[in-house]
Amino acid sequence: MRVLSCDQVVTFLGDYSDGVLPEEDRHAVDTHLRSCARCTEVLGDCRRLPEIVRRATDIAMPVDAKARLRRLLSLGWRSHS
Ligand SMILES: [Zn+2]
Repeated sequence: MRVLSCDQVVTFLGDYSDGVLPEEDRHAVDTHLRSCARCTEVLGDCRRLPEIVRRATDIAMPVDAKARLRRLLSLGWRSHS
């Protein structure tokens, strides 16, 4: 089991939020988030600001993930809250 620092987790959160993080990294981030309120809060910010996340990950994001994110955006993430 890898243990991530907060700084490492933050660099993963964009991809984590988009669901494109590799299984191993995602698991390490999950484990960290369970015991770290600060990173959980940062992840919440990522999800509240999908446009910024999309722009930040635009270059590296696979096409299908991009399409999925656009669909989520068009549905409106906040409509259920
Ligand atoms: Zn943390």
